[in-house]
Amino acid sequence: MSPALRVGALYPELMNIYADRGNIAVLRARCEWRGLGFELASSTLGEALDPDAHDLLYIGGGQDRDQIAVAEDMQATKRDGLHAAADRGAVVLAVCGGYQLLGTSYALGERELPGVGLVDLRTIREPGERLIGNCAIEADLGGGPRMIAGFENHGGRTYLGPGEQPLGRVVRGHGNNGRDGFEGVRRGNVVGTYLHGPLLPKNVWLADRLIELALDVELKPLDDRMEEAAHASARRAAGL
Ligand code: GLN
Repeated sequence: MSPALRVGALYPELMNIYADRGNIAVLRARCEWRGLGFELASSTLGEALDPDAHDLLYIGGGQDRDQIAVAEDMQATKRDGLHAAADRGAVVLAVCGGYQLLGTSYALGERELPGVGLVDLRTIREPGERLIGNCAIEADLGGGPRMIAGFENHGGRTYLGPGEQPLGRVVRGHGNNGRDGFEGVRRGNVVGTYLHGPLLPKNVWLADRLIELALDVELKPLDDRMEEAAHASARRAAGL
């Protein structure tokens, strides 16, 4: 029997801006087109997280207001489950507001939201403009460097701790903080990024790579002419 990708969506109704739920639609389509099963479950405020129930955990972006409720709840109900899932090799994909909450803290003026500490990074809402625009980064998730193109809009600036690796190098746009030329984070199967677009519809190679990591399989290519056109248009939007 072919394996099924079991996806756990965290706070899907709260952490979903810029159509970030499109990431889940792409994961589903790419599994189903290959005859792989796909199971989707969600876990929101007040619900515990079973660390063995998912191959891929996903959290999208959110407004500061929603992040406050989510940050507290993640500490209380999901922190340990997330660590245990990541320790056994589950993929964790976090976008923008979700990415910020993977780290140790998100400082918003007087207030500091706790992160779950899956990776060593901190985010600070510094004075200054929001970092907004089309963005392209070069990332290597095995098989050589490839482009990820998308759109970023964040007030928080993220700084990786000394032992942490970025997801990629900024080719166009701002990235983690507009200064150091890095974007996102990657530690094993834990991936965080500021890129919306949504991310996976515009970068289906990344969707496939995440499925491969989650299921420990090698996927056959699909006819991706349409998807490659979407990717090319996202690259052009970023000026490439
Ligand atoms: N609220 C966060 C910020 O502004 C994240 C925004 C987002 O998810 N797009 O930095």
